[in-house]
Amino acid sequence: MLCHCYSQQPFEHCCQPYLLGTHSPHSPLALMRSRYSAFVLGLGDYLLSTWHPDTRGQLTAGELRTVGHSTEWLGLTIIFATGEATNATGMVEFKARYRENGRVVSLHERSNFERLSGRWLYRDGLINPPKIKPNQACPCGATHHSTPKKYKHCCAKRSV
Ligand SMILES: [Zn+2]
Ligand SMILES: [Zn+2]
Repeated sequence: MLCHCYSQQPFEHCCQPYLLGTHSPHSPLALMRSRYSAFVLGLGDYLLSTWHPDTRGQLTAGELRTVGHSTEWLGLTIIFATGEATNATGMVEFKARYRENGRVVSLHERSNFERLSGRWLYRDGLINPPKIKPNQACPCGATHHSTPKKYKHCCAKRSV
């Protein structure tokens, strides 16, 4: 079975080990993907436990489960991602599609992640972030011969 996060990878080699708790996501991108899968599956406890305590407020696992189950999830596209296992913070910009009242809605968010006691957590996000221009330095931070890569030559090629 292909993973719920649209990675085109088998579920057991993608988000499943994180959702089962046998592994911790090594990067903000891996956490982001696993949280999308958790919404699809309605895994409220996982969503709550990967939400930064400073920003999750009074949210409960039950509410998150309800959001997941009551939504028809249609797709996830990653725009760019930053943050490796050793960083303190990272970002993932994505578009998540779902159906609402019969029409397809796209949630476009730039999410911030923070590593707390060795575990990546979702912190907060900016909805409808400013558009990335083709000629600007790619926000993923990639370089080529120590020059920042332009977005159009970098992550713009990956997103679909
Ligand atoms: Zn996955
Ligand atoms: Zn890039």
